[in-house]
Formats: sequence, C-alpha cells, structure tokens
Amino acid sequence: MSAPGISSSEKIQPLDVLAIAAHRDDVEQTCGGTLLKMAERGYRTGILDLTRGEMGTRGSAEDREREAAEAARVLKASWRGALDIPDGRIENTWENKLKVARVLREQRPRVVILPYWKGRHPDHYTASTLGYEACFLAGLKKLDCSATVPAAVVADVPPATLRAGRPQDSRQDAGATPHRPFKIIYATLYYDVRPSFVVDISEQFEARFASLMAYKTQFSDQEAGKDLFPAHKEIRNRVEAMARFYGMLGGVEYAEPFLQKEVGLVEDLLMIPVKSI
Ligand SMILES: [Zn+2]
Repeated sequence: MSAPGISSSEKIQPLDVLAIAAHRDDVEQTCGGTLLKMAERGYRTGILDLTRGEMGTRGSAEDREREAAEAARVLKASWRGALDIPDGRIENTWENKLKVARVLREQRPRVVILPYWKGRHPDHYTASTLGYEACFLAGLKKLDCSATVPAAVVADVPPATLRAGRPQDSRQDAGATPHRPFKIIYATLYYDVRPSFVVDISEQFEARFASLMAYKTQFSDQEAGKDLFPAHKEIRNRVEAMARFYGMLGGVEYAEPFLQKEVGLVEDLLMIPVKSI
C-alpha cells in the first residue's frame, strides 16, 4: 500500500549527505556537527558505520547499536545503518566494496563524507579508500551488487510527507539502479593535515558533544579500560580544543575540518569568506 498521490519512483527519498565511517562514534567525533547543521537546514542526512563495534574493550555490539541509534536521533539523521565488516579488520576487498556500493545505490546521496585517507588506525584509512572505490563502482551500469548483505538499519526516519502508508520495503529494489555521488569530501579531524575548508558548528557544538556522550559504554567514567580511555572531563576538553582550533582557522567559535581533492570554484570575489588580514 502506498500513500495517495505518490508514485513508486518518489517512494525512495534520496539522502542529501551520507557520512561513511569505520566505527560507531567516528562520525560523532569528526563530522557530527556538520551533519546536524545540514539536517537543521532541511537536508536528509545519513550515517553508514562499516563495523558494529564487537571488538571494543567496553560494551557489546548490542549496546553500541542502541547508542548509535540514540546518537543518530541527537544528530537528526534520517538514516543510519551498519555493515557486518569485522571490527579491527576493515579490508578493501571486492566483497566489501559491493556492500558499500549497495548502500550508495539505495540511499543515493549527493554528498558523501569519507574519513581522511591517512591515519593511525588502519580501519580509518582503509575505510577511506574502500568508500571512494565503492562510490566509483556504484555508478557502473553493469555492476550487480544486489546479492550482497544489506546494511542493518538502526535508524530510519522517512520524510514527513511520506510517513503515512509508506511501504516498509519501498527500497527493496533500489540497489539495482546505478548511482554516483556528485561530491566526496574527507573529514580530517583525526589527522594533522591542513583542511581545505571548515564548517562552522558553533550552534551545533553542544548537541554534537551530546551525540558522542550517547555512547555511554565508551565514554562514561568507569573501571573497565580506565587506563585506555580518558576521563569524561578530559574528553570534553579535547573535543572542545579541537573544535576551537578549527573554528579559529575559519574565524568562528567552533568548526569541523574537511578536505576536498578538487579546487574551489568562485563566482564572486566579494563573497569569499574568512578574513585574510
Ligand atoms: Zn574509529
């Protein structure tokens, strides 16, 4: 059953922005403020976590799923899913690329945010290459990724206009239609590299921090792994210092850093932001 007046092609509402990251809580740390800002502007945003966090010192994969759903709610994300790639063992295999390509075809984002391609954690930099190559593959007409395991959906908020009578399986066949995002940008917060641009998240900073704190098993003060995990106050100080640093580069209070491989295109010199002198 479908809502009156809605054709089948309109049932699949594409995402405007999809952030792809290795672990649950990565997006909250690197680009959560930007996702929230976009959602507040009326865009549909989504998050794809490649792993489910089963290797974590604290909490189980089930705990982290509940926390990821709560964090998605705080960030006003329209969709959040997780693949079944093993935590700590993200590899850029054909099979994994097909899994990500399937999500890209189903969700059809215009902008994809990937992790930066260098870093300390192998999962992070591998996720970057895997994500990029999946974006390329997803656009190939003859590629078939319909046989791959779909992402486990932890949050799915349909657009308000489609809520009534929207069929549960309206995205079932979407994985067959090629799609390539228009823009790929890289979230660089985990790595010391000069960003191409920063996004002002001064008004989203507190909610972004709250989304990270939704991972209670990871970030609340507790005995398990206390030598590995910084105390709550220290986390707050670190998150704030980084956001202030990038904010300072952009002449605002708090910001998140990004890198794009392409050059910037300018129409009007008088509209270029960030003061020079
Ligand atoms: Zn991570």
